[in-house]
Amino acid sequence: MSSESGRNVPWAVAVSFLIRPLPDVFSLPEVYAVADPLRKAFPNNQHVEAKIRQSLQLLRDRGDIAFEGRGRYRKLRAAVGRSVRIDFSEAARYASRSQIARVAIEAWVGTNVDCWRCRSSLLPVPTNTRLLDAVCQGAGHEVQVKAVSGISGDTLSGAAFGPMAKRLAEGSLPDYLIVSYDRLRSIVVLAEYIDGTDLVLERLKARSALREGARRAGWIGSVLDLGGLARHAVVGPTFDPDVASWP
Ligand SMILES: [Zn+2]
Repeated sequence: MSSESGRNVPWAVAVSFLIRPLPDVFSLPEVYAVADPLRKAFPNNQHVEAKIRQSLQLLRDRGDIAFEGRGRYRKLRAAVGRSVRIDFSEAARYASRSQIARVAIEAWVGTNVDCWRCRSSLLPVPTNTRLLDAVCQGAGHEVQVKAVSGISGDTLSGAAFGPMAKRLAEGSLPDYLIVSYDRLRSIVVLAEYIDGTDLVLERLKARSALREGARRAGWIGSVLDLGGLARHAVVGPTFDPDVASWP
């Protein structure tokens, strides 16, 4: 899903999450100083810094921040609190129709989910050449986000088979964060981590090639078999009938 190009969050969304830990008034060098997670996904540092500056202009144009002069910026909007609600209006501002669910879910992840390994916050990463959708701001742990409409089952549709198999031959996959959501109600019902080191090559299966005439004819996707793997829920039902108080 996420390996298809152009489907990750736009840069301005990523930068809006990048500046979140900074004080209300901050400087460009302070933004660069916390940009290492992005540098990991984009080894060309000049590219990253140019994109950050462009994104700050965009955030200013839409009224999220103000330029204060002498390289200072001020945040104009309070950070959104945690919720299972998915904000589609935020994504609609940037993305084409087909991107909206994907971008909205990644923005939801950035607001609501912490790194499963070190508890630091997750930063959504713009489209890159790696299997990487988010990276934690504490230790740079890598995460692939899979948005599933309904409740996810024991298989997961993966990226193109070739790059997935190559990546698995080189080392383990990033951790997977599976976000099951209800499209009608715009809420996340379950978010679970799967340890990337559990996703061994034997669990990867090729799908049949897309037939001629399809938009990406000949493209071979993949399926990951999750059967029997531990799932670490970070958002899910907490209802317990034994402790619930009835009116
Ligand atoms: Zn981490």
